[in-house]
Amino acid sequence: MSGVKGANVWVWDFQWGCVLIDSGVPRQQSAILANLQAMGRTPDHVKAMCCTHRHLDHCGSFAALQQVVRAPLIAHSWDAPAIEGREPLTSAAPGNPLKELVDSLIRFSDNTVFGYVPARVDAPVHGGERLPDTHELEVIHCPGHTPGSVCYFQRARGVLFAGDVLSQRHGRLRPPRSIFTMNREQALESLRPLAELPITAVLTAHGGPVAEHPARQIAAILREG
Ligand SMILES: [Zn+2]
Ligand SMILES: [Zn+2]
Repeated sequence: MSGVKGANVWVWDFQWGCVLIDSGVPRQQSAILANLQAMGRTPDHVKAMCCTHRHLDHCGSFAALQQVVRAPLIAHSWDAPAIEGREPLTSAAPGNPLKELVDSLIRFSDNTVFGYVPARVDAPVHGGERLPDTHELEVIHCPGHTPGSVCYFQRARGVLFAGDVLSQRHGRLRPPRSIFTMNREQALESLRPLAELPITAVLTAHGGPVAEHPARQIAAILREG
């Protein structure tokens, strides 16, 4: 979607509806709805809202969207307490003073600068589900960046909505950005099953699609660490 601030908001569009993947930072609902309108879609066409993880640039506008979109909000059960406002969206990775400082700055920004409004998670998932009403999106749990980070995979087309489970630099897939990642070793380990999937395109949350041998690129990340 264009004109939306924060992480990319993707629309998985199919004949009888569409699915929103992530929602940007707070106050992006008008821009998101305008994009849907430009596609000839109304809020009623949205069959599900899929959250990749609990960071503000991804879940920031779900609460506002829930005022007009009746579709369920889907997120992993381990990130749901933060999305619902019962835990901070970021929590310090212990033992790393720089990360603790960055996390405390982000927490201040989430609450005071952006004014995060908690959203209601209607359908907590655990990984392994094939979501109803989404034209066969599968949930793949990839903990590490956050405990409840997930990818959504459309197997028939080989499209992977990766959230921050993968990042990219100069069009090449990379591991998630270390400084924002709670457990780097676990985040790398979570990439292992992705290298086995028939992926044709990875849609990361920051940057454009990556379609050049994605599985090979993921295997290279696993080799190089
Ligand atoms: Zn992000
Ligand atoms: Zn993130």
